Amino acid sequence: TLIKNADAAMYKSKEISGNSYHFFRAGMDVRTIESIKLENDLYKALEQEELVIYYQPQIDYSEKRIVGVEALLRWNHPTRGMIAPDQFIPIAEETALIIPIGEWVLKEACLQLKSWLEQGYALSSMSVNLSARQFEQNNLFALVQNALSEAGLLPDSLQLELTENLIIKNQELTLKTMRELKDLGVKIAIDDFGTGYSSLGYLKSLPIDTLKIDKSFLQEIKSEKDNAAITHTIILLARNLNLSVVAEGVETKEHVQFLSERGCRLMQGYYFSTPMTAEEFAFLMDRNILE
Ligand code: C2E
Ligand code: CA
Ligand code: CA
Ligand code: CA
Repeated sequence: TLIKNADAAMYKSKEISGNSYHFFRAGMDVRTIESIKLENDLYKALEQEELVIYYQPQIDYSEKRIVGVEALLRWNHPTRGMIAPDQFIPIAEETALIIPIGEWVLKEACLQLKSWLEQGYALSSMSVNLSARQFEQNNLFALVQNALSEAGLLPDSLQLELTENLIIKNQELTLKTMRELKDLGVKIAIDDFGTGYSSLGYLKSLPIDTLKIDKSFLQEIKSEKDNAAITHTIILLARNLNLSVVAEGVETKEHVQFLSERGCRLMQGYYFSTPMTAEEFAFLMDRNILE
């Protein structure tokens, strides 16, 4: 069931170095030499082809098969090894490097899906994460359109993942772009659902297709009754609003049972597979090893 790979090692190193980013003094954000070095390296990362996309399957458990895939960025640093997105995406956002990086991810992920479809893998969508910064540019719609047409993909095979906080941050422009994308046929998911600050009333006016239940809820369904109730409520909410619902962070047989008993068929998590390279992903689909 569980596919182990380089990701495990990466997260170990993340725990060790996790706190070395910033230190705070008198309300000021004083950056460490380490993070400035990392920023300098990041400027070169794209052209030196150090960025890689890992892919994590999304499973339809009622059919026991892989139906979609999420693109998750990693940085293969020449001396530090694999770096997790939480460690460099904040820097990319501060420096606006997220603009060229985000564009690259979109293009690359679309080309990869096209290649898999051509090889006969029946995937219905590729999910790509977006940052708020990317919505502040005026050309996001054009970039998405471009990535799709360059790859020769239909718009509905792309799902963009946005957080609630992103949507709230720059409402006017973000909503306008979301509507344009939705009209084109692109799917839109709210990521980490339940952790942001959006109100439920707002939800029904948003042009969205999918809710992704944040992994923190599922992970404590055993110890905290509230989290089980919240997870169940989000599943019902999605059903009543006619939205798809995906559970992320599915790690155990108990999680799978809990979700399928409550009618949530779409699942993503270490129980099925960690994020992996494109080659490993193709291998997984070939063998269709899910159970
Ligand atoms: P996210 O979009 O919420 O992605 C889910 C994260 O949960 C991923 O972490 C994934 O590896 C991890 N995960 C998957 N299954 C499980 C599980 O069963 N248990 C646990 N504990 N975790 C699981 P990752 O790859 O480190 O990405 C972290 C975040 O970085 C993402 O969170 C997303 O917000 C951001 N990110 C990743 N790629 C991109 C990108 O291309 N662009 C932007 N803007 N953000 C990205
Ligand atoms: Ca996501
Ligand atoms: Ca998420
Ligand atoms: Ca997240």
